[in-house]
Amino acid sequence: TTFIGASFGGIAEMYAQIQKAVGATERVFELLEETPEAINANPHASSVEKIKGNVVFKNVAFHYPSRKEVQVLKDVNFSAEFGQKIAIVGPSGAGKSTISSLLLRFYDITDGEILVDGKNIHDYDLENLRGNMSIVPQDVILFGGTIRENIAYGKPDASEDEIIAAAKQANAFNFIEGFPEKFETLVGERGVKLSGGQRQRIAIARALLKNPSILILDEATSSLDSESEKLVQEALEVLMEGRTSIIIAHRLSTIRNADKILVLDNGKISEEGTHQELINLENGIYKNLSNLQFSNS
Ligand code: ADP
Ligand code: MG
Repeated sequence: TTFIGASFGGIAEMYAQIQKAVGATERVFELLEETPEAINANPHASSVEKIKGNVVFKNVAFHYPSRKEVQVLKDVNFSAEFGQKIAIVGPSGAGKSTISSLLLRFYDITDGEILVDGKNIHDYDLENLRGNMSIVPQDVILFGGTIRENIAYGKPDASEDEIIAAAKQANAFNFIEGFPEKFETLVGERGVKLSGGQRQRIAIARALLKNPSILILDEATSSLDSESEKLVQEALEVLMEGRTSIIIAHRLSTIRNADKILVLDNGKISEEGTHQELINLENGIYKNLSNLQFSNS
């Protein structure tokens, strides 16, 4: 069952390194999925209909194949129900991004279970599982091509109207229309240079078209200036509607109204509750973080 960990450890590891370096998650998945063995690794994988989006982590433990001595996650338990917003906060290196890599099955866990709609993620066809998920990372890398191609990547058969609607909902339409070539503008190394916030809004438009059941935001607004952050945050609110969202956040202001906040510390969930519950925890990590951040703003 541990095809990534065992047979494809090298490849998965390498791609994850690249992913970590450049944050080009979607593109990396595309490459990974071009490996036929990776797609059909589990002969018993059943093909799934649309996933609803219930996520459960049950006693999940994990270490990276290359660093067996470092237990990155230890007995992590949480659940996200369909439509909920679950936030994960905690210091850098706590294991937050690792949780998203595991949910996307970049790596196989070393102990425990991850269930999606009650079924172990191993029992899903990998492509199908990922087809139901989108991630917006801190730094979105677009592939070389037009803006239209980058957006339509979320749904290759999207109509013109759908692409425009997605761009509008993602707060991307105005800046796209500002380019002489509009949706045909080339991006990437040989095209126009977009700001981080613009690239993120294109990724959001792509995700809107893809219409995933499970959305992962990994510090999606943490490297933006405040004007750009506002536009991206607005677009993210639209994107989160009606799906299960896992929000990894640096700034606590963006997760105040999450259904549940998990504080991850040194690979373990040390606090769990709503904002209101957590700020009432005497000597709580969240309470301290919260005092620090809000007293400065
Ligand atoms: P966070 O997102 O909370 O900052 P990460 O999940 O990125 O934390 O990292 C958790 C731990 O795992 C850190 O000690 C980090 O150095 C380590 N780590 C992350 N990615 C890899 C990898 N590809 N290989 C080995 N160790 C890794
Ligand atoms: Mg991280």
